[in-house]
This record gives sequence, C-alpha cells and structure tokens, in this order.
Amino acid sequence: PVVIEAGAPVKNRSRAGSVIRCIPCPIAVIDLDGRISEVNGAFSDLVSRSGEELIGSTVERLFEHGAEARLVHRLNSDLHVKDLRLNCTGQGGRAVPVSISGSAMTRPLEETQAFVLVFEDLREKSRLEAELEKTRNELKRRVRYIEDFRDGVYRMLKDIDSSEKEIETLCMELKDTHNQLIQSSKLTALGELAAGLAHELNQPLTVIKGLSKNILKTTYEDSAHYEKLKLIVEASGRMEQIINHLRVFSRYEEPVFKPLDLNTVIKDAFIIIKEILHNHAIKTVFNLSRELPAVLGNANRLEQVIINIASNAKDAMLEGGRLEVSTRTVEAGGTKSARMSFKDTGCGMGADIVNRVFDPFFTTKESGKGTGLGLSISYGIVKDHNGEITVESEQGKGTVFHITIPAMDQSP
Ligand code: ADP
Repeated sequence: PVVIEAGAPVKNRSRAGSVIRCIPCPIAVIDLDGRISEVNGAFSDLVSRSGEELIGSTVERLFEHGAEARLVHRLNSDLHVKDLRLNCTGQGGRAVPVSISGSAMTRPLEETQAFVLVFEDLREKSRLEAELEKTRNELKRRVRYIEDFRDGVYRMLKDIDSSEKEIETLCMELKDTHNQLIQSSKLTALGELAAGLAHELNQPLTVIKGLSKNILKTTYEDSAHYEKLKLIVEASGRMEQIINHLRVFSRYEEPVFKPLDLNTVIKDAFIIIKEILHNHAIKTVFNLSRELPAVLGNANRLEQVIINIASNAKDAMLEGGRLEVSTRTVEAGGTKSARMSFKDTGCGMGADIVNRVFDPFFTTKESGKGTGLGLSISYGIVKDHNGEITVESEQGKGTVFHITIPAMDQSP
C-alpha cells in the first residue's frame, strides 16, 4: 500500500498536491467531512470524470449503492485500509472494480487532517481472473470428459470380457437346445408313428370286434365261453376307443376354435392316459362341476395340455399316488371362467424349479426322458385361449396346476 506520510506544513500543501498529481497511479485525498479535496489525473481517468467535477463533491458519488460505508467505517476505526475491494462508479454508471489502500494524513502531535487513498484498477485483473476461471472450468470439464471416457472404455473392456463368457454359455446352451430339438423332432416322429400304428391296428381290431360280437350273439348265456367272449367284446370296444382317440390326437390339424365343455375334453384326454396312470399305481379321482360354463377352444390342443400335465404328474409319483382332477367356475375382475385343476401327491418342486417350469427346454428329467417342452407348449396353448396356467407346489408334498379359460357367455 502506498501511504503518504503527510507531515508537511500547510504552506507546503500545494507541493504535496503536485507530488500526488505526478504519481501515475490513481490517488484521491478525502477530507474529514467526506469531501474530495485532491485527485490526480490517473484517478480522473479511472472514474472518467475531470478533477473540477470531482474536487469538492462527496465521497458517495464515487461508489455504487452506498459501498463507501465500508470504506468510511474502516477509515474511522483503523485510520487506514489495505486492499479493500469495492466498485467505483465509472462513466455512465458503469462499475469499475478497484482495490483501495491508504491511511490518515496527520501532522505530528495533531489530529487527522484527511485521508490519502491509492486506488488500483482491477478491471484487467478481474477480466484475467474471469478468463482464468473459465479456462479452469473448461479444463475441469475436459478432465471429467477424459475420466468418463476412460471409465467407459474400462466398462467396455469389462463388458467384452463378460460378453465372451456369455457367448461361451450361450454356445453351450445352443448345443443343449440343438440336442433337445433333435429329441423333440424324435417325439414328432413318434407321434406320426403312433398315428400310423393306430391306423394299422384299426383294421384287425374291427375284425376281432365284429367277429367276437357275432359269435357272442349266437352263444348261449349258459355256455362256458359266453363270459370270456363278453370280455373280448368289451376289451376290443375299449381298444377301439383308445385307438380312435389316438388317431385324432396325433393328427395335425389347424386349430379350429369351437364351443367346448371342458369336462368332456378332460374325459376324452383321460381315455388315452387313464390306463397308463392306473398301471403306475396312480388313482385318478374326478371331481367335475355340473354347471361348468362353455368355453371357446380347440379340444385337441387342450387335450394335449391335459395329457402333458397328467404325464408329468405320473413322473412325479414314482411310487404311485393320487391325481385329483376337478373343474369349477371362478370369477375374477368381472370375468367368469371355467377352471380345471390337476392335483397330484408327487415329489413336488422347490421355488427355484417352480419359477422355471414354463421355460422352454427346462427339464429336471434325465436325458432322453424329458424335453422341457411340454409345459412351455402348454403355456402357449392356454395363452391362445386367452387363459391362464398357474402352478402351486411344495417340495415333497405335491403339485397342483390350474388352467383357467374365460367362459363364452359372460352374462351374470
Ligand atoms: P419335461 O416333462 O419334458 O421335463 P415339462 O415342460 O413338461 O418338460 O416340465 C418341466 C419340468 O417341470 C419337469 O422336468 C419337472 O421338473 C417339472 N414338473 C412339471 N410337472 C411337475 C409335477 N407335477 N411335479 C413335479 N415336477 C413337475
């Protein structure tokens, strides 16, 4: 700070004034009553006002919005200021940032006479500071960008690494799927074979049934052969029923949707599977509602779903058990539906398996026994009927599958 040690006598005051005027940095002398008593050219340039205009005017005119209060307070309390930053009012009211340093001018052993203040124009410094700040911010932004970029590259590298592993897993899954596809095409072939076989068996069976019926007609009831013949006629009738159904079931046809009674669909499906369940020591119990509403559906496809669920139940009850088949009417969200439920007393499933049973190719059965397609196909079929298929299961206790299909007639 520039402090003018003013010890000069009054007669020398004009000399002090000319010294101030010679100094190239802006200086102003303020009297104790707050009036400007001296300025130099550099100060006039700073505030863009002439010396005549400034000398005699109050200090308030030099600053913006009463900012001089801080200056006056500091001078009154400390008798000097050092690097006090304020805004002066320049030309047209423009703010000119300045730093002010100065102190009281006193004579030896006397009271303060005035204050000599030296101003530093901070405009260039502020501009440079603002530019520096801008450059600093820009640099920060670029550093952030580079850091983000680096993180992105790092993540990408990690992703590539995990993608490689994923691809490896996918390749293995693809291999499995390929094997399963081969298995399912074998099943399709098996279906065709069954249809062909049923067709071939139909002929001789018609002969057996026809002949045995004729012989039965001409045999007296008290004959030793009558009961045996009757058994042959009944058995061939049952065989005919199974074969006919097998033919219908394995025949591929575009699904036609018709009004259906789900009880009839269940009975037809069990013509094929009932004997198999019986042979595995599984007792089938039917609990079918008499007032089940009709649904719009395709019997063949729904039979496929039922047979699949029943044969899974059979696989889950290796030691035998009970399969309860029931139907009832349900209402949810204002929609009336017919529901079929299949409850077995088999091994049941843990939550991890239950969550995946409808996934294509999900199977827990050994290779060659399961394709993992049954329930995913069933799911698709039920969805085609605008229906729902759900499962509840408890490990070691059993499983129940519910199939719910909206009723055709929704009137209450
Ligand atoms: P797959 O029978 O060929 O395995 P599914 O899609 O029909 O294929 O069944 C998938 C899996 O769901 C089965 O492997 C089995 O683990 C499980 N599952 C299905 N039904 C039952 C059931 N009633 N009891 C226990 N587990 C079942």
